[in-house]
Amino acid sequence: MKLKRKKSQKLFAEAKTMFPGGVHSPVRAFKSVGGTPLFIIKGEGAHIWDVDGNKYLDFCCSWGPLILGHNNASIRKSVTKTLQNGTSFGTPTPIGNEIGKLILKGNKYLDKIRFVSSGTEAVMSAIRLARGYTGKSKLIKFDGCYHGHVDSLLVKAGSGLATFGVSTSAGIPDSLAKETLVLPLNDLPAVEKTLKKHKDIAAVIIEPVPANNGLLLQDKKYLKALSKLCKQYGVLMIYDEVISGFRVGLHGAAGYYGIKPDLITYGKIIGGGMPVGAFGGKAKIMKHIAPEGNVYQAGTLSANPIALSAGVAMIKTLIKPGFYEKQEKKTKYFVHKILKHTNKKGYTFNIQTIGSIFWLAFSDKRIQRSDEIASESMSKFNMLHSILLENGIYLGPSGYEVGFVSAAHSYKDLDKAVKIMTAALDKVMG
Ligand SMILES: *Cc1c(COP(=O)(O)O)cnc(C)c1O
Repeated sequence: MKLKRKKSQKLFAEAKTMFPGGVHSPVRAFKSVGGTPLFIIKGEGAHIWDVDGNKYLDFCCSWGPLILGHNNASIRKSVTKTLQNGTSFGTPTPIGNEIGKLILKGNKYLDKIRFVSSGTEAVMSAIRLARGYTGKSKLIKFDGCYHGHVDSLLVKAGSGLATFGVSTSAGIPDSLAKETLVLPLNDLPAVEKTLKKHKDIAAVIIEPVPANNGLLLQDKKYLKALSKLCKQYGVLMIYDEVISGFRVGLHGAAGYYGIKPDLITYGKIIGGGMPVGAFGGKAKIMKHIAPEGNVYQAGTLSANPIALSAGVAMIKTLIKPGFYEKQEKKTKYFVHKILKHTNKKGYTFNIQTIGSIFWLAFSDKRIQRSDEIASESMSKFNMLHSILLENGIYLGPSGYEVGFVSAAHSYKDLDKAVKIMTAALDKVMG
């Protein structure tokens, strides 16, 4: 039976008359999977409801922030309580100290932190700090890592052997794109060669758990060696943990791998579903931020008390013993059940996973670099996506996006999803 989509279609048509592409963030437009984006009006636990009254089991979870699921009671309570006293003061607030203590206490990966309002803003500020601290200007980034819509990071590798970045968006001056050198993941010699050749590199930025272009899990050995090279060449190591922070463990990928980078950026989970980002790191570097130092960074709504009260409630739940073990166990259960079926059928299919993140890879090899993802596999994902949507399962609308299992997903929800997903995979792969 075809699900009703009439109201979403009507709203999308109207939205297109007001907003570019009808949306406020491009991937929401369903361009890669086709069809009309759903207009969602409610979320509760692991489920969302669209304006036509359809219910979906949600594995997108607002692109990662909702590790506790939708409309979590403790977050709602904390936000509602704070809201009674006003929305913003533009001054320090006690709740700022509260979340600071929750994040920094017993955390050997992070000495100091500053709050901003998005992941992009966090990355942008961390880069400025790295440049201000080192007095150097160039950056190394990796193909297949996303760092928000920061000008100097919306770049890809140039043609041939050139590593100088070419912008992936109009409106970015060549002079700026050229300040970024783009290298493949999982290739240490390329990093060493570049560090040797260019003396003006301020920082190497990486998603230590690359989760924006498939899930391109790197080896701990590689990440360790990367840090060592950075130290050797006097370059800062920046971990972009906007997805992995508070997701693969309380101390993010830094804690997961046991590596302390110079700077770390956060977003998504840290705000409990509110617009929050943060960057932090070693005290000797963070002291260069204004007003203590001369690297300017500011925000009218930075550390907004309502937003932080969501983050506080979130982190108070995450620090409970066993939280992450439980999520990982549940995710493994889900992934293994699907793989048991697809392996038996002999499909060229795999699911790459870490913590409560999973990615459907239409390949039977481990994928660690973006150029190892076959673009043909995306048509398979698109078919799968539309079958799943018809059957009440919501995945992010692109095959390059990862899925998230939240604390609100029950084993019963996952069993149901396995049934629907394996039947859908039979249709796509069989
Ligand atoms: C989402 C994301 C960003 C950008 O965060 P926004 O809040 O969307 O600006 C940056 N880096 C990574 C790794 C992300 O996943």
